[in-house]
Amino acid sequence: LRAAFPYFAAIDERAAAGATPQFAPAYLDSAATSQRPLAVLDAERNFLEHSNAAVHRGTSGAVGAATGAFEGARALIAGFVGAAAPEQIVWAENATDALNLVTLGVGEANAGNGVAGSERYELGAGDEILITEAEHHANLIPWQRLAKKTGATLRFIPVREDGTWTLDDAREALTEKTKFFAFAHVSNVTGFVAPVAELVELAHAVGAITVVDACQSVPHIPVDFAELGVDFAAFSGHKMLGPNGIGVLYGKPELLAALPASRTGGSAITRVTMESADFMPPPLRFEAGTQPVSQVVGLGAAAEFLTDLGMDRVAAREHELVERLVAGISELPGVRLLGPADTSQRVALTAVSVEGLHAHDVGQFLDEQGVLVRVGHHCAQPLHRALGMASSTRASVHATTTEDEVDRFIDALRGAQQYFGLEVSA
Ligand code: PMP
Repeated sequence: LRAAFPYFAAIDERAAAGATPQFAPAYLDSAATSQRPLAVLDAERNFLEHSNAAVHRGTSGAVGAATGAFEGARALIAGFVGAAAPEQIVWAENATDALNLVTLGVGEANAGNGVAGSERYELGAGDEILITEAEHHANLIPWQRLAKKTGATLRFIPVREDGTWTLDDAREALTEKTKFFAFAHVSNVTGFVAPVAELVELAHAVGAITVVDACQSVPHIPVDFAELGVDFAAFSGHKMLGPNGIGVLYGKPELLAALPASRTGGSAITRVTMESADFMPPPLRFEAGTQPVSQVVGLGAAAEFLTDLGMDRVAAREHELVERLVAGISELPGVRLLGPADTSQRVALTAVSVEGLHAHDVGQFLDEQGVLVRVGHHCAQPLHRALGMASSTRASVHATTTEDEVDRFIDALRGAQQYFGLEVSA
């Protein structure tokens, strides 16, 4: 599989030629951004070489071909995440942007810029938005802004000692006042998998709209948004073997139809006068301005690549790797694993804190050993605060990760403890 990725093929070639670890690093940072297979790079290049033209503009055959590639990718992504229709897939810059399309759109609905059906997004004093303490800042700050703008109250489900939260916690926190419930499908720090279908059912029972941050689930496990019942979901191309600069907002048709666009301008409209504008139906309403077409095409190719691999197989392979990570970490005294110890509740990543060491020192030592991980707060400061720390060290995998890479991480952690003279007893 690694041979299908130019990045890994080059590393493996250098390693075989006896390169030092730093020149043949173990890449354990797919949760931040994943590497792209040749199929994705080729798709982008082929499009740019043969079909590049402005989409949805003009009537030439070239425009038709480019538009076909652009809309074809939308259909591929719809199929990949279980959307009934391609119109349920809105292109955004990334997951952050996709989440902002929801919160800013609701803000517009409440600022008098609604479209037909926008009444369902009325939000004000006495209403509540519910999130969790484990959210990435991308699924926190936009809600803070929306609450401030509308007078609604932002509430959160606190995490337990291991950074997880339960269905019962959600049941307790959801009330008739809850208008939105937003949460990550998989946490980018603890790897904890939320029971989405059950949570959606609880939310719908009180009339709340669900918004799922699917950034760390869609690349790693089979996800069917229709089956899960979610109202909105967001994810990024660059974490699922695709290009950066492209993300996705999934939405139920009637909810997208009632959501105003927060960015306005060309190609998202039907009729414009000097005083006003009428907007296109979704998804084009949300895609004002020239779109990142080659990235869209590359993302379609990434979905095809993952489909060919089989998401069940990807998930099973990554599960083996996570079990190996968790087992290795558990043998290191003084290293605390964040998130559930039960690997069946965890996807694709492990973050740790090393007693007596700052994560940045760990990161620097690991980097010198050629082990590429992410250190810091991973855009989840409140979660780290709740866990009693400012930062952690995260190793994350994809289907391309090898056992050797996992072992190098574990060895390097042990090495860091020894290097910094930590006395650790079993
Ligand atoms: N949510 C989660 C859970 C993430 O892991 C990330 C990426 N770290 C984001 C949101 C934001 O993704 P992006 O930076 O691609 O918008």
